[in-house]
Formats: sequence, structure tokens, C-alpha cells
Amino acid sequence: MARPTNITLCSFCGKSHAEVRKMIGKMSRPRVYSRPRVYICDNCITVGTDLLEEELSAEMRQSIPKTVLCSFCGRSHAEGLKLFAGRGKFICNNCITLCKSVLDRELSAEMAT
Ligand SMILES: [Zn+2]
Ligand SMILES: [Zn+2]
Repeated sequence: MARPTNITLCSFCGKSHAEVRKMIGKMSRPRVYSRPRVYICDNCITVGTDLLEEELSAEMRQSIPKTVLCSFCGRSHAEGLKLFAGRGKFICNNCITLCKSVLDRELSAEMAT
């Protein structure tokens, strides 16, 4: 098996795998399998979760075009999802909740050892 040659960077803040505690990769769904890999770090998950729990302001809604798709699940803003933006990538409230639960599980597994 070939090792990945490029360093994994968080798609939202640009930090490398070495600089953050955890990095959660995109879930492999056939529908979006051919898209570029996207990663989100534990920091961005925390920030994004807080942001997406709040209702987006009208200003923020307008700043995200309807054509923008969640980089994780490929669904659009127009489907009623809330999107958190960073460095040209987006994550919706559904996906960030999923990432948060994966993160929590991994962190508590680490603490148990
Ligand atoms: Zn990040
Ligand atoms: Zn999504």
C-alpha cells in the first residue's frame, strides 16, 4: 500500500495533521467519492458546531451562494442546510454533527487507554 505523499491539511483552517489533535476526513460515500479529499480538524469542528447551533444571520446567509455544496456530503445550501465556510470548503450542520460524534468517540477512546 502506497503511503500518501502529501501532508493532510485541515480544509478549513489549513493546519497540518501534526498541529492539531484530531483530523476527521470526509466520509466515503459513492456519490461524492471522486471529489477531492477534505478534512476538518478538532478545532474547526468545535468552532463550526458552535456557529451552526446559532441561526445564521441574514448577512451570513447572503454571503454563501445557493450553488455552494457541502464538501462532505455534496448537498446544497438550497436544501435548507446551514453551511460553515472555510478556505473555499464548506461543511453543513449534519456533517459537522457527524464529525463531532466521531471526534468525541475517538477522544474518549484515547482517554480510556
Ligand atoms: Zn481546522
Ligand atoms: Zn454535509
